[in-house]
Amino acid sequence: MTRIAYYPGSFDPLTNGHLDILKQAATLADKLVIGIGIHPGKTPLFSFEERAGLIETVASDHEIDVTVESFDNLVVDAAQAAGATLLIRGLRDGTDLDYEMQMAGMNGTMSPDLTTVFLPASPMVRAITATLVRQIAKMGGDVSPFVPPAVDEALKQKLGH
Ligand code: ADP
Repeated sequence: MTRIAYYPGSFDPLTNGHLDILKQAATLADKLVIGIGIHPGKTPLFSFEERAGLIETVASDHEIDVTVESFDNLVVDAAQAAGATLLIRGLRDGTDLDYEMQMAGMNGTMSPDLTTVFLPASPMVRAITATLVRQIAKMGGDVSPFVPPAVDEALKQKLGH
């Protein structure tokens, strides 16, 4: 049986925190599918194609095999359509835990065959959020400690710094 894990998020853009979770998830599953959530009415910094391209580049740099897709429906439906039995979520702190426990509980009721797996952020990356990365980069700050080199380069190009 091929064990498929689904890792959903915005990935706008991929950070070293996401990469840490990706690396951990790759050890648990035969196949890893990354779902980029598309929210109508919310304008991301990077398009779906740009975000997917960056994830593919970075994953390949780290020899992690991933498939990237978009979804605009319920995470549990997207994960099941991808054939996943594992739903991957990263945990940074107690705030993540409280929210993620609620989601895991309700997702578990909606889709009992899909098991949520919480993976703890490694100490070096647990403070990183894509929202702050975007804000710092927009203001000309150096985000190279927080994102993979390909993402750092893409941010510089996008923002003209
Ligand atoms: P963000 O909250 O940074 O905008 P996403 O919405 O893309 O990120 O989050 C997707 C998933 O990645 C979530 O499970 C989130 O908890 C996890 N994640 C994001 N940043 C980190 C990090 N620094 N360490 C561990 N997990 C993270």
